[in-house]
Amino acid sequence: MKIIALDIGGTAIKYAYFDGDDLIFDDVRPSDALLGGNKVLENIISVISEIGTQYPYDTIGISTAGQVDSTTGTIIYANENIPDYTGMELKKILEDKFKVPVCVENDVNAAAIGEAIYGAGKGESDFLCLTYGTGIGGSIFLNHKLYKGYQGVAAEMGHMVTHPGGLPCGCGSYGCYEQYASTTALIRTAKAHNPEFYNGKAIFSAFDRESKDAKRLIDNWVKEISYGLINLIYIFNPSLIVLGGGIMTQPYIISKLNEIIKESTMPSFHGVKITLASLGNLAGVYGMKAITSNEYQ
Ligand SMILES: [Zn+2]
Repeated sequence: MKIIALDIGGTAIKYAYFDGDDLIFDDVRPSDALLGGNKVLENIISVISEIGTQYPYDTIGISTAGQVDSTTGTIIYANENIPDYTGMELKKILEDKFKVPVCVENDVNAAAIGEAIYGAGKGESDFLCLTYGTGIGGSIFLNHKLYKGYQGVAAEMGHMVTHPGGLPCGCGSYGCYEQYASTTALIRTAKAHNPEFYNGKAIFSAFDRESKDAKRLIDNWVKEISYGLINLIYIFNPSLIVLGGGIMTQPYIISKLNEIIKESTMPSFHGVKITLASLGNLAGVYGMKAITSNEYQ
């Protein structure tokens, strides 16, 4: 099967072309999301048209930001990062235009399915994925299936409360996990301590130079990450937790987490492995390959 897969985000459209199991090429361009849903649609159509004039294709997969009804391929809700995207019938519009089957899925779900079928979760039946960045996103696999919840919005792990009465969160609550354990939280705390620690890279290069300050800040932050993971381990008893987000490529974080989690959980839960996501920013297009080719059903 020949597949065109796109991953629509707030800043970029990542896209790829697959011929059978082979990734033939992939690339990225701006999504112009702030200019609105119609502009994003225009960009989606031009990516597909450009690829389609040079390569044959049997199906199109679209991973996108926003809440998606994957049966109808409609955007149920998108926030202010893509104005006027809510309600867009992406599947219908693209099938009418390109005359091939189109699948649409939420980007977090698509990335998780990519990791599950081709990446770090390959072969695992019960595992969790969490992504650390501005906030914290998550997904849950139970018995090889993505668990979506009653309204399809399960696994908002960033809003578990780990500090009752703590910092205010955009969701309206206080003390949410992502206010303490996201990459943004690390940078906020580190920068308040030392203005030179203005991003993740600066903090970790100080750590590599054996800065005690940087190590202490990172250790406290890793501890915050562990609080959420320990709760999830007790609830789901996963075989594996896959961690994504640029900062997780710093090897110290995952090795320290494995250590803390062994120290802080009951022995019957020590089998859990904590590991790095393996597909990086191609997880979403791989997820759409799995969905469109029925390797994930
Ligand atoms: Zn919250």
